[in-house]
Amino acid sequence: MNTLKRTLLASALALLSLPVMADAAHPKIGFSIDDLRLERWSRDRDYFVAAAEKMDAKVFVQSADANEQKQISQIENLISRGVDVIVIVPFNATVLTNAVAEAKKAGIKVVSYDRLILNADIDAYISFDNEKVGEMQAKGVLHAAPKGNYFLLGGAPTDNNAKVLREGQMKVLQPAIDKGDIKIVGQQWVKEWNPTEALSIVENALTRNNNKIDGIVASNDATAGGAIQALAAQQMAGKVPISGQDADLAAVKRVIDGTQTMTVYKPLKLIASEAAKLSVQLARNEKPTYSSQYDNGSKKVDTILLTPIPLTKDNIDLLEKDGFYTKAQIAGQ
Ligand code: BGC
Repeated sequence: MNTLKRTLLASALALLSLPVMADAAHPKIGFSIDDLRLERWSRDRDYFVAAAEKMDAKVFVQSADANEQKQISQIENLISRGVDVIVIVPFNATVLTNAVAEAKKAGIKVVSYDRLILNADIDAYISFDNEKVGEMQAKGVLHAAPKGNYFLLGGAPTDNNAKVLREGQMKVLQPAIDKGDIKIVGQQWVKEWNPTEALSIVENALTRNNNKIDGIVASNDATAGGAIQALAAQQMAGKVPISGQDADLAAVKRVIDGTQTMTVYKPLKLIASEAAKLSVQLARNEKPTYSSQYDNGSKKVDTILLTPIPLTKDNIDLLEKDGFYTKAQIAGQ
């Protein structure tokens, strides 16, 4: 069918409010993202859309702005637009069971992106190895502070990654706890990975412990940023080793300045383009190649797990070599 005919047919069907027929050569993909206001996710979107368009797919992007109800209605909206595949970065891992079931009923494939959707009949999951990320974070802090009092700053309680990161962190920390080298003096999850919340949690932790905190295992750069502000208010920034992840520009600068010990680089272009490829394959009923399976509470989900890279001051220039940032961006104020 040529483009004009397809457009005419699509408009006719739209008038009848019927879903447009699947067109394997030009798949339609809905991308429902938790929160596009954050640097990380807008980069994912840009890379994803570029990769999908190269494969002749059209992408409809929605941002739920950290609101689970909004995300559910956006998914319903994508279903009624008749997309072939819906790719979801869930805000809340546990509330999408029905929305996913509706999509499946309409013959739409569902992919969980970066964060796993729990208890739902999804077709695939793609992420970085979050347990490894957690191990890297704990190793980074433990290397810099082999002994002392530790505070664990977890991610959002609604995000399955937060839990997996903690499992990875504990794998590394437990032996040091058992030996009596380190002591966990507090731990808290940070609602919505919010930096301001992280700041006040760490402020309180410092007060409760008379500032005797020797290491903070923070689960991402945004929350590390809040924690470092709390440390700075006590003239402790740069003295307390602290981890992160995402290689956010602000965090990269902190690693160079020495106020953040490490971050974890997850090449977003890689996950976004692999996810776009996976989605187009699913839309075309082809068989993607998976690396593992992951139990989401309702099934063993076919999974692609990519490899994260730990970064310290010593290898931070990788970001420039990899084209993640320019020299000017890193040097900029
Ligand atoms: C992602 C992190 C991100 C965090 C907050 C997690 O699920 O894996 O890369 O920093 O969400 O958006």
